[in-house]
Amino acid sequence: MAKPDYLLITCEHGGNQIPARYRHLFAGFEPLLQTHRGFDAGALTLAHALAKTLHAPLYVSTTSRLLIDLNRSIGHPKLYSEATRHAPAALRREIFELHYLPHRNQVEADIAAAIARGRRVIHIASHSFTPALDGCVRNADIGLLYDPARRGETALCQGWQAQLKILAPELKVRRNYPYSGKSDGFTAYLRRRFPAAVYIGIELEINQKHVLLGGRHWQALQSKVIESLRQAIAAKK
Ligand SMILES: [Zn+2]
Repeated sequence: MAKPDYLLITCEHGGNQIPARYRHLFAGFEPLLQTHRGFDAGALTLAHALAKTLHAPLYVSTTSRLLIDLNRSIGHPKLYSEATRHAPAALRREIFELHYLPHRNQVEADIAAAIARGRRVIHIASHSFTPALDGCVRNADIGLLYDPARRGETALCQGWQAQLKILAPELKVRRNYPYSGKSDGFTAYLRRRFPAAVYIGIELEINQKHVLLGGRHWQALQSKVIESLRQAIAAKK
């Protein structure tokens, strides 16, 4: 009998904390830290709920992406933000070593260990997106980002979308929206490290308007997202 898939949850943009040591870099940028540029509202809550309900290991960061963006690859022009890009090289190096590498390396090592044990890994990275960007209203409630060239990712996202249609027909679920799953990100990096047969990396994107509504509405949406994923994984067997 095939071993069950190894589910792993991550959250790269979980918070907007800036360690005291780097706060001077953010003089004038304090308001920005409170916006969608500073963190993904709701993504941390959903990541915790996913991990708890589905008994999956969880790796999160609550340091702001404006310090260093854990969802960008080394060398990407937006790895550092406008607040940190011009910091002295030694300080940027320190930020990289203390606030980038640990999360990235821990997740990669956990995935490598699971694959070495003969498991196939399903990695869900919890994110959220702002309802409107540059005056453009985003036309989706949930986005599932993946690489269409990887069959396992396509199948799981189609299955997840189908389960959501049953459980939550009121929600508009779109694949590879509002971003392309193939563009730079942690899952894109991990796809280069691990073959398609053993690594499925999906970015879950929730429209922040649901987070802002809060209360029972937000709770119910989380439950539907989690239950639909559980069923999509079970149906694949
Ligand atoms: Zn994000």
